[in-house]
Amino acid sequence: MKKIAIVTGANRGLGFETCRQLASKDIQVVLTSRDETKGKAAVEKLQAEGLDVVYHPLDVTNAESIEHLAQFIRNEFGKLDILVNNAGIARDFTDAENSIFNTKIDTLQETIETNLYGPLLLSQALIPLMKKHNYGRVVNVSSGAGQLSEMNTGYPAYRISKTALNALTRLFANELKDTNILVNAVCPGWVKTDMGGSNAPRTLEQGVDTIVWLATLPDDGATSGFWRDRQPIPW
Ligand code: NDP
Repeated sequence: MKKIAIVTGANRGLGFETCRQLASKDIQVVLTSRDETKGKAAVEKLQAEGLDVVYHPLDVTNAESIEHLAQFIRNEFGKLDILVNNAGIARDFTDAENSIFNTKIDTLQETIETNLYGPLLLSQALIPLMKKHNYGRVVNVSSGAGQLSEMNTGYPAYRISKTALNALTRLFANELKDTNILVNAVCPGWVKTDMGGSNAPRTLEQGVDTIVWLATLPDDGATSGFWRDRQPIPW
């Protein structure tokens, strides 16, 4: 049976390209999005390229939506091999809250719900479907903004959410250390997407390289790391 992969927030940007590259490796990809019309259009695009991609709706901030996805995977495939927690928002890229002194709790809450609680709830719901056959690769798409070891300023809510996602990665990896379920976080670099903007130096292909590498690590591959360009980085 083919490996089964779920990618969140995959109707555009890095998630969409991750689906394309995983499906190109003969992996059965479940492309998910919160907007059904956009998600189905994205699936049709990949299917037109001859890729094996199916659609399922998923809003990562909605527990019921997560449970529906888990049920679909259980019924359709009976197992899961790869989870790419890619969906993310960056509310404080565009407003006046780029100092921690001005950060609004609402902004922080909304950002954390998507960037942290989403991956947490998905991991809780879906890693059991990896444990059954003792194989799993979980890739949490984080950011250099989550490197508090770098003295960057700006985007406090986004930075807090991604640093917490790095912490979550370690906590899951620690609990799974005696299994063949590898959990890693990745910074894709600054990539041309709706979020990254048109000035970003990296292409989608460059951005997803380390995501796909971590999603397809061999059994003796790393776990609990934070990576950019296939190299460990501090946070
Ligand atoms: P985009 O803004 O282009 O895409 C974000 C995706 O996440 C969209 O598909 C969006 O759906 C989806 N999304 C947002 N909220 C939810 C939700 N509640 N449920 C399901 N899906 C949701 O961003 P990128 O492709 O650039 O970013 C992907 C990941 O990479 C993010 O986690 C981001 O933080 C990270 N990243 C990106 C960098 C860059 O330079 N681009 C740099 C570092 C990290 P919709 O279309 O409905 O809004």
